[in-house]
Amino acid sequence: MNIERSAGPTEGISVRGVSKRFGATPVLREVELDVAPGRVVALLGPSGCGKTTLLRLVAGLDRADEGEIRVGDRILAGPGSWVAPERRRVGMVFQDWALFPHLTVAGNVGYGLPRRERRSGRVEETLELVGLAGLGDRMPGTLSGGQQQRVALARALAPRPSVLLLDEPFSNLDTSLRAAVRSEVHRLLVELAITTVFVTHDQEEAFVLGDEVAVMHKGRIVQQAPPGDLYARPTSPWVATFVGDANLLSGEACGRSVHTRIGAVPLVADATGPVDVMLRPEVLAVEEGDDGVVELLEFYGHDSMYFVRLDDGFGLRVRVAAEPRFRRGDRVRVRYAGGPTQAYGHPLGVRGGNVAATVPLARS
Ligand code: ATP
Repeated sequence: MNIERSAGPTEGISVRGVSKRFGATPVLREVELDVAPGRVVALLGPSGCGKTTLLRLVAGLDRADEGEIRVGDRILAGPGSWVAPERRRVGMVFQDWALFPHLTVAGNVGYGLPRRERRSGRVEETLELVGLAGLGDRMPGTLSGGQQQRVALARALAPRPSVLLLDEPFSNLDTSLRAAVRSEVHRLLVELAITTVFVTHDQEEAFVLGDEVAVMHKGRIVQQAPPGDLYARPTSPWVATFVGDANLLSGEACGRSVHTRIGAVPLVADATGPVDVMLRPEVLAVEEGDDGVVELLEFYGHDSMYFVRLDDGFGLRVRVAAEPRFRRGDRVRVRYAGGPTQAYGHPLGVRGGNVAATVPLARS
């Protein structure tokens, strides 16, 4: 695919020390975000953490109180600098797609284009790019949800933006359509190789589409990493439990190992003293034994989850890929069956599951 023709040259995004308040409420706090040219970063966080606000600042729909936003070597916003939204070369797809219902598909896609561009075949070219060739005369209301979303994407891509911003792009779709549309958009973003930030609160979506995932919590980016790194080495207990299931088990660390109630667990880095160690459910194994009882078993088809209550009262989640051998009420033991993992220390001397009071100790 001719990227130059299709999407225009793409550039990286750099957000430095950006803060934003609404009234007295800080919504963004010294946000740092980097997106390399042509890469897709998923901005993942719980509802209300500031994701949309950050996207709107990059698009120029709102102004930051502090900090700087660059695309390539252009300063879009910063002390003494401000580029108007229409001159930023930033394409944005909103959560509700914001299509004009009274305009045709072609009318929607060409809306922001100069007349010369509209006549040059750019609209048709962009519709072809998103797989909607020949549908230019249709009204948006006659299209499926997935097709409407592609119209919104085409409208954002038509002016050849250097970066693309997508706000919860799949939230308007039925669950049955979501996975298929997600794969289509994924393929398109890979083909276009356009720098993209997309907002989501869905971890699976972030992992599937993001070359990197930037996790946002209470107005800050708390960790940005490729999905695999983020999953294996979350830098805080909060991130560990937000991006997937995690057991946080207290123990006593000594060097690259921590002694826990289910035995020794290897660590990715040296640690000493009381820690919480992160154990993903799939790195635990359930065996015949006498350490606890299967309290619950959930069968998901591709795998199953045991909820094992140890005799000291501690609960563990264990995921098994094979058909489950044990049933509710069976006596079992739980064994660690994974590689080196992450531990979080107790800076305040607090222990015993006070997750909020822990900090990362073991980093690779
Ligand atoms: P969601 O996933 O629910 O869309 P989000 O992470 O995108 O959430 P934002 O929409 O950025 O969160 O909102 C962050 C906080 O800022 C929220 O508490 C919201 O109520 C507040 N907020 C957003 N826009 C404004 C505004 N224009 N005026 C006042 N408060 C606002």
